[in-house]
Amino acid sequence: MVLIWDHQRPPGGLCASPSCQNVYLTQGSGLPRRYCSRRCATRERVASHRRSRAAR
Ligand SMILES: [Zn+2]
Repeated sequence: MVLIWDHQRPPGGLCASPSCQNVYLTQGSGLPRRYCSRRCATRERVASHRRSRAAR
């Protein structure tokens, strides 16, 4: 699916989780989001935590 968001401000974003990549809509006011859901945010935070620990 090609999104024509290049010259527009997107109404949302692409989930930063590589295993998800859902398109999500930003909802009202609030913090800028990188993930489509809290579930993805939590999963990726745990994953990056594991990666950083495994690197050592
Ligand atoms: Zn997601």
